[in-house]
Amino acid sequence: MSSEPKFIVDNMLGSIARWLRILGYDTVYDRNAEDWAIVRRAQLEERIIITKDKGLHNRALKNGVRSILVWEEDIADVLAHIAVVAGIKLSVDFDKTRCPEDNTPLIKVAGKEKIKDKVPPRVFSLHEDFWECPRCGKVYWIGRHWRQIEKILGEARSKLEVYKLKTSLR
Ligand SMILES: [Zn+2]
Repeated sequence: MSSEPKFIVDNMLGSIARWLRILGYDTVYDRNAEDWAIVRRAQLEERIIITKDKGLHNRALKNGVRSILVWEEDIADVLAHIAVVAGIKLSVDFDKTRCPEDNTPLIKVAGKEKIKDKVPPRVFSLHEDFWECPRCGKVYWIGRHWRQIEKILGEARSKLEVYKLKTSLR
């Protein structure tokens, strides 16, 4: 059994769910789930709730469920906050990364010929490493969008350092 934290995010926070999955954390996101169902599932599956809703947050705490109330608008701030509370790593481990769409662990494609039909020709010729989602079939690679992901994670890491510093001075 792994001791990695698992999450369930409330239905306002789809983008945070995507980030946590990219970082490799098992994250449930159901746009239609009601508060009681989120709390129930968190309880059953030992997930940490992430929410912007104070009502849901309090309900979780009352039921003995771990919950992180986020208020930050900036995604780097949110990620740093989650890292402080839940100890998530703010860098991508390609052996653990999950499909942002459906939370399934990605599988490294052995032999890129297999996915040739699934990516644009230019991408196919430029890249050697690809990952595929065994559930939805989507193929991922370290493309141009990657720079943006790294930039935001870099910001989140510096913010985490500031948080830690503040806490140690307290
Ligand atoms: Zn998928």
